[in-house]
Amino acid sequence: MNNLFDETHDPKRKSWVASAQGHADFPIQNLPFGIFSPQGEAPRGGVAIGDEILDLKAALASGLFSGQAQEAAAAAAGAALNSLMALGIAPRNALRKRLSALLAADGADRARVEKLSATLLHKAAECMLHLPAAVGNYTDFYAGIHHAVNGGRRRGRDEPLFLNYKYVPVAYHSRASSVVTSGTSIRRPSGQRELPGEAVPSFGPCRKLDFELELGVWIGPGNALGEPISIAQAADHIVGFCLLNDWSARDLQVWESQPLGPFLAKNFGTTVSPWVITVEALAPFRQPQPPRPAGDPRPLPYLWDDCDQQMGAFDVELEVLLSTEGMRTKGMPPQRLAVSNTNHLYWTVAQMVAHHTCGGCNLQPGDLFGSGTISGPTPSGYGSLIELSQDGKQPITLASGETRAFLVDGDEVIFRASARRGGYVSIGFGESRGRVS
Ligand code: MN
Repeated sequence: MNNLFDETHDPKRKSWVASAQGHADFPIQNLPFGIFSPQGEAPRGGVAIGDEILDLKAALASGLFSGQAQEAAAAAAGAALNSLMALGIAPRNALRKRLSALLAADGADRARVEKLSATLLHKAAECMLHLPAAVGNYTDFYAGIHHAVNGGRRRGRDEPLFLNYKYVPVAYHSRASSVVTSGTSIRRPSGQRELPGEAVPSFGPCRKLDFELELGVWIGPGNALGEPISIAQAADHIVGFCLLNDWSARDLQVWESQPLGPFLAKNFGTTVSPWVITVEALAPFRQPQPPRPAGDPRPLPYLWDDCDQQMGAFDVELEVLLSTEGMRTKGMPPQRLAVSNTNHLYWTVAQMVAHHTCGGCNLQPGDLFGSGTISGPTPSGYGSLIELSQDGKQPITLASGETRAFLVDGDEVIFRASARRGGYVSIGFGESRGRVS
């Protein structure tokens, strides 16, 4: 993890794209990759800059890249970013540096690029955003320790965490086919439900529909089957991050999960934010993994790396908002339900990669991890309704006067995230949105 900082993080660097200055999500220091289509045109790779999207295909055709940056731009010009993800750090970072130079107010090529801006730039509001990659595999971890503790307490266990929790980055293999991009509506699933007072399960629409606030992780080159990725090498395989909503049908989950874990409760939809916030962009917001509480076991050697412990965690603030039909009718803005932070993860992303592959499982470019629900230690940080409403026993009251135990049709769940640190320019993730229908 050498050379984390370069000119792309310079807080003094400004863009000639006016809307990038002071932009909450996409100043020139961010430069996230995504897949977009201008009206009526085919999807292709782009980079968010302020309120605009730079078209990588058009920039490539204009001859703005050479060397490794050109290789990366060519890999990002198609309808999915898997090829870019497969290239790894060096070409991706070369492209980032070149894009930063092309968009910089004092860049050597500014006049040439600005002249091309009618073909290179599209207003983001007029474009469709798509899934950034074809997701081959999606694995959902359980690394938010406060969420895990809350779940154990809810189930009445004296010791809320299972013994394995502090040794194993617990996860299950989830469903890739139903990962959708922000803005896609989520249809309430039907399935077998078991509710108190009912002698036998019934089939019907989920009555405990929930969201889960998670960090999504986009995987890069990956490994050959049978060849583990060591924790020291794990960073080479982490491309970047998104917001991830692991929609959950709690009444289906509680009935079906014994003993193999969630199935239909989690496979009907997972929403991700469309922009890949690269690890390079997040370099200023790295932090040490918080020390384990006294008495917790030290991770086994294959999960321990000094460098990862020193800088493998991230300080990213996460926010959940809810917009109900009632709020929209009254012209009320979405209401914030919780604020949390990625530093509540008990395991680093590198530890997840090392554990996922230690038995030989092969990761592939465009694979997706969910971190697990990232709740804070107190109710103001709870990242799911089952925690916020205590499994429906204490519905929350909204500013509109409505109450919520779980989601009702028409509810829209919005996630946002931002990273801040003194001396650096803040960056954001954009949004993950999904409305229940
Ligand atoms: Mn989850």
